[in-house]
Amino acid sequence: MNTEHHFDAVIIGSGLGGLVCANILSKEGLEVPVLEKNEQIGGYLQSLKSYGITFDSAMHYVCGLDKGQILCQLFQYLGIMERLELERMDSNGFDAVMFGNDEVQYAYGIGYENFMKQMLRHFPEEENAIRTYCSDIKKICNDYSLFYINMENIYSNDSPFHQSAKVYFDKLTSNTKLRAVLAGTNLLYAGMSSKTPLFVHALVMNHYIESAWKCFQSSDQIAKLLAKNIKADGGAVHRKQEVISINVENGEAKYVTTKNGEQYFAKHFISNIAPEKRLELTNTETFRPAFRNRIKSLENSEAAFMLYIVFKPDTIKYSNRNYYYFDNTKVWDCMNYAEQSWPYTYALFQSIPKNESEYTESKFQKLTAKK
Ligand SMILES: Cc1cc2nc3c(=O)[nH]c(=O)nc-3n(C[C@H](O)[C@H](O)[C@H](O)COP(=O)(O)OP(=O)(O)OC[C@H]3O[C@@H](n4cnc5c(N)ncnc54)[C@H](O)[C@@H]3O)c2cc1C
Repeated sequence: MNTEHHFDAVIIGSGLGGLVCANILSKEGLEVPVLEKNEQIGGYLQSLKSYGITFDSAMHYVCGLDKGQILCQLFQYLGIMERLELERMDSNGFDAVMFGNDEVQYAYGIGYENFMKQMLRHFPEEENAIRTYCSDIKKICNDYSLFYINMENIYSNDSPFHQSAKVYFDKLTSNTKLRAVLAGTNLLYAGMSSKTPLFVHALVMNHYIESAWKCFQSSDQIAKLLAKNIKADGGAVHRKQEVISINVENGEAKYVTTKNGEQYFAKHFISNIAPEKRLELTNTETFRPAFRNRIKSLENSEAAFMLYIVFKPDTIKYSNRNYYYFDNTKVWDCMNYAEQSWPYTYALFQSIPKNESEYTESKFQKLTAKK
């Protein structure tokens, strides 16, 4: 028998977006359940355990958490900032890009001045290009008003939407190594020379240059704290509740049905799942075929292959930075590798040691993979 529930708003999917949204609404007094299809909440904030070690499934470093920065402000508003267990990453190199036999670690510093200082150590003759790069990245993020939640002049400058990141670097400098170093973390956004727009690169880089942090144990602490808040404010996060349909009457969504037959009625429905999956949940004519086809035809970005490694105790010294390795300076389109050269590139993230030991227990390696 179906069970009916009635709410102010229903949120589909308990990823970071869904949990933050439910937090804000429940803080404002709305009764909001989050429906999650999986056993564990959090989407890409989920953790996994092997040999007693907890690994992040995806989110291995977080940014914008220094005082006054955007995520810090949001997490303070939500009341979780003080409760998060974090470690600030190495100020002189939270990320380091490395190439083949070149033993240099090309490190990214936290803060723009320090970022420039670290770059100038290796590229003193490129001061102009490095300064231009930093000022362009900051400008793009300031123009992209949603980044700083400034609702004036949204998209006041749309050129970075149309400009390719790869073409930008080609114009910035003729120094191929500097180009490769600056674009060397493009695994983070599945960088493709023919497709990745400059603003995607800028948003990701700016965020981390502002400040980079790791979570102790796992980033699932963010999901757990947000879920606690939702419950404290009268909401709920329901696991194993896969939404299988959004039911529409007279052009308005009335209720969702879950796989186990429950019905959730609400005034508002907020989907925090992939847009094409969300469209599959309803056959309403409110969405025109042209819109459906456009969303359906959007290409997904490449997937990554992950390797989780547990070390023997006291063997590998902990380093509070991430590594991005490439065989050579061809850093774009890494998904188009030849089988025999795999892994041509990888990124490496270490877990924070327990009990302040100088040795790490594990690492999390992310390799490129074909679709
Ligand atoms: C490999 C990888 C590494 C990353 N590393 C970082 C990083 O280091 N730092 C960083 O800041 N970001 C990182 N990201 C990005 C970040 O993890 C994601 O952008 C963010 O977590 C996405 O949150 P979300 O709420 O949009 O969606 P998701 O996390 O995808 O959540 C969607 C949720 O909806 C649920 N769902 C789907 N369909 C249904 C349904 N029908 N009914 C009910 N529930 C449903 C899913 O189970 C899932 O829990 C990484 C991403 C990946 C993939």
